[in-house]
Amino acid sequence: MSSVQIRDVRKSFGNFEVLHGVSIPIEDGQFVVLVGPSGCGKSTLLRMLAGLENITSGTISIGDRVVNNVQPKERDIAMVFQNYALYPHMTVAENMGFSLKLRNAGSDEISKRVKRAAEILALTPLLDRYPRQLSGGQRQRVAMGRAIVRDPQVFLFDEPLSNLDAKLRVAMRTEIKELHQRLKTTTVYVTHDQIEAMTMADKIVVMHDGIVEQMGTPLELYDRPENQFVAGFIGSPA
Ligand code: ADP
Ligand code: MG
Repeated sequence: MSSVQIRDVRKSFGNFEVLHGVSIPIEDGQFVVLVGPSGCGKSTLLRMLAGLENITSGTISIGDRVVNNVQPKERDIAMVFQNYALYPHMTVAENMGFSLKLRNAGSDEISKRVKRAAEILALTPLLDRYPRQLSGGQRQRVAMGRAIVRDPQVFLFDEPLSNLDAKLRVAMRTEIKELHQRLKTTTVYVTHDQIEAMTMADKIVVMHDGIVEQMGTPLELYDRPENQFVAGFIGSPA
């Protein structure tokens, strides 16, 4: 676990600035949800946290370390994407252990961590199956398992549920929250679904066109939206 500080971060692609100075303080163990319309810069910000995109200006710190120039592999962050592709030729256990193998963990250590993650996610009976033998929800849990095995300081989720049907989405939402209550890992969760944001977040950050419009608890945003954009976004149906 770790706090995360995003300070006055800007990002340009060529001459096109997509983030115009974003500051977000995140406390150790907090579940922070970034919401905002498509194209407002949510994924770009998450990719910068993961180290997959460089920072044009400003700083990102994890714990007390500025990570602007730290490689993804050295950041102790795990990310779950919307298009979580599992390796089709690997079993569930192998899929979950793969990132540890890449980091040169020993096979005993890998098997211990995979077992523990499988227990947490109720995947133990499925460890020898291949992805094609799993349901959509089970695959999603394996994708989370791949993140959990590393016991990272920070979890990043980029619209992880948007490919699932409505019923499964509600179930997975609960599961991710329970996981957070159990592990207390600092989490940054991106969605464009305001229901997801309102039900999951300790703190919601509303973004719009590369800036933060407002941040606060779900109740604060609901009770006291600071402008029309926030009011419209929080108040409108999913
Ligand atoms: P969101 O996740 O909120 O939908 P993104 O962070 O994906 O938004 O994109 C923000 C803006 O940055 C969009 O206008 C998008 O087209 C642009 N963008 C994202 N990645 C790149 C890239 N690699 N090159 C150029 N423009 C990009
Ligand atoms: Mg996105």
